[in-house]
Amino acid sequence: MKGDPSKLGFSTRAIHAGQPPDPRTGAVAVPIYQTSTYVQEELGRHKGFEYARTHNPTRAALEENVAALENGHAGHAFASGMAAISTLTSLLEAGDHVVASQNVYGGTYRFFHQILERYELSFTWIDSSDLGNVERAMTDATKMVYIETPTNPMMEVSDIAGAAEIAHAAGARLAVDNTFMSPFFQRPIELGADVVVHSTTKFLNGHSDSVGGVLISTTREDAEWFAFVQNAVGAIISPMDAFLTLRGIKTLAVRMERHEANGRAVAELLAGHPKVEAIHYPGLPDHPGHELQKRQATGFGALISFEMGDYQRAKRFLDRLEVLSFAESLGGVETLISHPASMTHASIPPERRAELGISDGLVRVSVGIEDEADLLADLERGLAAV
Ligand code: PLP
Repeated sequence: MKGDPSKLGFSTRAIHAGQPPDPRTGAVAVPIYQTSTYVQEELGRHKGFEYARTHNPTRAALEENVAALENGHAGHAFASGMAAISTLTSLLEAGDHVVASQNVYGGTYRFFHQILERYELSFTWIDSSDLGNVERAMTDATKMVYIETPTNPMMEVSDIAGAAEIAHAAGARLAVDNTFMSPFFQRPIELGADVVVHSTTKFLNGHSDSVGGVLISTTREDAEWFAFVQNAVGAIISPMDAFLTLRGIKTLAVRMERHEANGRAVAELLAGHPKVEAIHYPGLPDHPGHELQKRQATGFGALISFEMGDYQRAKRFLDRLEVLSFAESLGGVETLISHPASMTHASIPPERRAELGISDGLVRVSVGIEDEADLLADLERGLAAV
């Protein structure tokens, strides 16, 4: 492809943005620049690459690509989603206050609560699906509102544009973890967010074979700060992981469509099943966030959580599955099913898990792109064992 891909459709950008053919060979795939340093032409003159912590062409291609997909100013890629979130919070200074969704990924809660609170940062945890809670939690010291929508694993939906308005009125930034939706279904920057974060480990890479994270910024100042921290701290994505993520993104649109079609079928099966006590999926019309999700996103995704009643019932169900992979993580081509209380959210104290609805009977599924009939048959098999 020649020219500027920014005016083109989503899939075209996913395949081409940041990835012009290699100027030396014409290679369509951006090479894995597995080098730690670059020979300089002469003292004081180089090609823009000095040392690989600072610059790497494979990483730069990924960064340009994700910025184009989220309609942001710039992207920066890190060794994991948590490394990206850590860099995001380096925008804060001692004394600052953050208003955060109470239902974020357990690792994000652990990082904010157990590490950042040691550095004179304070957090108010709220149910951000009610904008009144966001508004009431703001203080003179609030510098960031941090949300995930839908939340993990309770699938609560928060109003991105409304949260942006509240944050901006207080002179704070809105940061959105868009991992669950991917830019294919939801683009928070278009709704007013200042920074978007992804664990690329999930849908962006999509094949459960890489760990990484990205930040997409909307201002030159934030982009320059993220580049500075990326170099100063060094939590960079490797060239191989950048390559795998770029490769995964090329099929993001077709994967997300299939993820969602299968997700809908799984949700319908679970919603009507007598052994399932409750189901949390914004794609179902009776979900409290259904209408808002329809307004601010173009799909509902493939994450579903549901209540089996208690630990033993959840265990009998999970132990009987043959096709679904019992594993942490989400967003892979394979359906991944997990038990949040003992896995992804084990770092949250039990009392707090109970308050959030993360019971010992709760199961979360990230629906993959296998044949629908095989997934439904496997779920029926598991449910029959309960
Ligand atoms: N954000 C969300 C929504 C996640 O689910 C995860 C991991 O599960 C992370 C961030 C952290 O990403 P990583 O595991 O790549 O550090």
